[in-house]
Amino acid sequence: MIDCRLSEDQETLRKTVAEFAREEVAPTIGEFYERAEFPYEIVAKMARMGLFGLPFPEEVGGMGGDYFALCLALEELARVDSSVAITLEAGVSLGAMPIFRFGTDEQRARWLPDLVAGDGLGAFGLTEPGGGSDAGATRTTARRDGDAWVINGTKAFITNSGTDITQVVTVTAVTGDVDGRKQISAIMVPAGTPGFTVSKKYSKVGWNASDTRELSFADCVVPAENLLGVEGRGYAQFLSTLDEGRVAIAALSVGLAQGCVDECLRYAGEREAFGHKIGEYQAIQFKIADMETRTHVARLSYYEAASRMLRNEPFKRQAAIAKLVSSNAAMDNARDATQIFGGYGFMNEFPVGRFYRDAKILEIGEGTSEVQRMLIARELGLRS
Ligand SMILES: Cc1cc2nc3c(=O)[nH]c(=O)nc-3n(C[C@H](O)[C@H](O)[C@H](O)COP(=O)(O)OP(=O)(O)OC[C@H]3O[C@@H](n4cnc5c(N)ncnc54)[C@H](O)[C@@H]3O)c2cc1C
Repeated sequence: MIDCRLSEDQETLRKTVAEFAREEVAPTIGEFYERAEFPYEIVAKMARMGLFGLPFPEEVGGMGGDYFALCLALEELARVDSSVAITLEAGVSLGAMPIFRFGTDEQRARWLPDLVAGDGLGAFGLTEPGGGSDAGATRTTARRDGDAWVINGTKAFITNSGTDITQVVTVTAVTGDVDGRKQISAIMVPAGTPGFTVSKKYSKVGWNASDTRELSFADCVVPAENLLGVEGRGYAQFLSTLDEGRVAIAALSVGLAQGCVDECLRYAGEREAFGHKIGEYQAIQFKIADMETRTHVARLSYYEAASRMLRNEPFKRQAAIAKLVSSNAAMDNARDATQIFGGYGFMNEFPVGRFYRDAKILEIGEGTSEVQRMLIARELGLRS
C-alpha cells in the first residue's frame, strides 16, 4: 500500500523546523549572506533544537529519529535558506555519520557527543584540487610510521572545515597498494593538528553563509587509532556515505524549489502590470504550475529513495535519480522565480536572488549531475 502521508511526529517536526526557519532564519540570514559570514547563533539554535542529532539513536546522544527526519528538516530549512541547510547536512551526513557508521567504540565516544549535539562540527575531505568526480584518483597520502599516520596532500572545497567550532575533518588518503591497486583509507584529523593548514574561505557564487575551505597537510601526524574503520576500505565507506548524502541533498533541493513557489505565489498576488496582478496572467500561472509540479515530483522521488534506505533495501539508483531530479527542479524553479520577480529578482533584498545563486551548486556537490547519470546507467547494466 503506498502512503506518502507524514506521521504525526514527522508533521510536528516539519512544522517546528518550518516555524524556526521563518521566524529565526529568514529575518537575519540575508545579512550574513551578504557579509559571507558564518551564522554561529543560528547554528547554535539549530543545535539546541536537536537538529544535529535527528538521525542518531539516543545512546549516542541523538534524538532517536531516522535519516528521513533529517531530510524533512533540511527541506524546511532550505525553503528559507540553503547555507544553514548545507551546514546541517554536511555536519550530520558527512561529519558525524561516517564516525557513527564506521567508527570504533572509542572513536564514537570521543567525537559523537559534541557532533551529535551540534556543539562541534565535523567535515569530510574527499575532493582534491585535481578532481572530485574521479574520487579514486586521490593523491593525498598517509604513510604509516610506527603508531602514527603521516598525511601529505591537499583537499578542496571542504564544507564546515574551518569554523570556530570545527572539531574534526575525516580525509581520504592513499595508504598503500595491493596488486597495483590503490588502497584508500579514511583518517580523522582533529582541528589544530600541527601540519594541518586551513586556508581562508573561498569567495563563492552561493551558499555564502556556509563555510568552505581548502585544506593542506604537510607531514601532518595523527595517531594510528585515528584510522576510521578498516584500512583500505575508505573508498567503499565514502561511496555509501555519498549514497545517503544524495538523498539529503535531494531534500535540500526540494526545499529550495518549494521556497521559489512560496515566494512567487506571494509576489504574483501583489505585483501589478498593465492594470492587473501579474498572477492573473496565464503565462505567470503556468510558470508557477510548472514550478509546483517539478517540486512535487522531486519530493516523491526523495521520499521513495529515503523509504528504501530505511527499509535497508538497495537505494543507490533511487538516490541518484532523486538527486538528479531535485537539483534540476531547484535550478529550473530558481530561474523561473527570478524571472517572475523581474528586476527585483536580481536584487539581494529578495530571497529569490539568493535562491538563484544557491541553486547551481546542487547540480555539482556530492556528485555532479553527470555522475548521477553515470550511476543510473551503471545500475541499469550499461558499461563504458
Ligand atoms: C560549495 C562546495 C562545497 C563542497 N563541499 C565538499 C565537501 O564537504 N567535501 C568534499 O569532499 N567535497 C566537497 N565539494 C566538492 C564537490 O563534491 C565537487 O566539486 C564535485 O564532486 C565535482 O568535482 P570537481 O569540482 O573536481 O569537478 P570534476 O570532477 O573536475 O568535473 C568537471 C566536470 O566534468 C564532468 N565529468 C567528470 N567526469 C565525467 C565523466 N566520466 N563523464 C562525463 N562528465 C564528467 C563533471 O560532471 C563536471 O561537469 C564541495 C564543492 C563546493 C563547490
